[in-house]
Amino acid sequence: MIDFVQPISDEFKKINFIKGAREGKYPYSHSLLIEDFLIDTGISSRLLRKLKRLYPINNVLLSHWHEDHTSGNRLLPNAKFFIHAKDKFLIENVHKFNEFYGICNSPAEEEFEWLLESLKLTNTKIERVLEDQEIIYVGDDYQIQIIHTPGHTAGHCTFLELNTKVAFLADIDLTKFVFYAGTDSNLIQFEESIEKLKKVDIEIAVTGHKGLIKGEKKIKEELNDYKSIIHKRDDRILSYLSESKPIFLEDFKGKNLIYKYYSEFKQYEILAELIMIQKHFDKFLEIGLIRSNNNGYILN
Ligand SMILES: [Zn+2]
Ligand SMILES: [Zn+2]
Repeated sequence: MIDFVQPISDEFKKINFIKGAREGKYPYSHSLLIEDFLIDTGISSRLLRKLKRLYPINNVLLSHWHEDHTSGNRLLPNAKFFIHAKDKFLIENVHKFNEFYGICNSPAEEEFEWLLESLKLTNTKIERVLEDQEIIYVGDDYQIQIIHTPGHTAGHCTFLELNTKVAFLADIDLTKFVFYAGTDSNLIQFEESIEKLKKVDIEIAVTGHKGLIKGEKKIKEELNDYKSIIHKRDDRILSYLSESKPIFLEDFKGKNLIYKYYSEFKQYEILAELIMIQKHFDKFLEIGLIRSNNNGYILN
């Protein structure tokens, strides 16, 4: 057995967990292979080349458009690709990524262009779009249900194999870092999607950046912990607000309110942090916790 391919359990041998390069850390991610259906292609070019020599891959379900889940698409020219309608136009035109990360004309743009080039990202033709709750029949044994879980991106989907209760949660990734810095991210939807998954009966979860999590109770606990990361950020941001003096988005620049420390991608992270803080403001506005005041925000 190849070390990066692991059957999900002794019982379900045709469902394989495919471990991404560098333990699935960005710019790579984990995949799931169910017969000839591969979910996401970001394991790394080297591993995907190996995988396709071992297993036929005729269909690819993409959880969302992000480069760390789609960079291997170009290595599967004969496969049929599926993605939610809301993410389709991006995967068909990767030049739009900069715009959707909100980094056009910023110092982070060059850094990101370089990364996309090194991943050799290309446009992908989509065979058909995925619908929420749709079921895809795979061979005689498996049925993959599509669950639309927007928030991380507008078209983000998770996948549930109904017979085995194995689910691929993609970038509701149950790590310590929750990401919603796209112009198509939405924090209220993100939290609703986490709640939606808590109601689903899942026995084994695989996420884009974390290995297997087994047991319904454990998975629900991890979903709760993941959601509490968002709530802690809410509290941190709200502690800066007052009822009289408006606070501005720029006041939060470089304050490490979301990134504990910035990495070698500092330029990007400072920008992404501000975009995510704006998502919290958008949420606070929508639930009536704050109001706009001279382009800043005050508590209601
Ligand atoms: Zn993502
Ligand atoms: Zn990811």
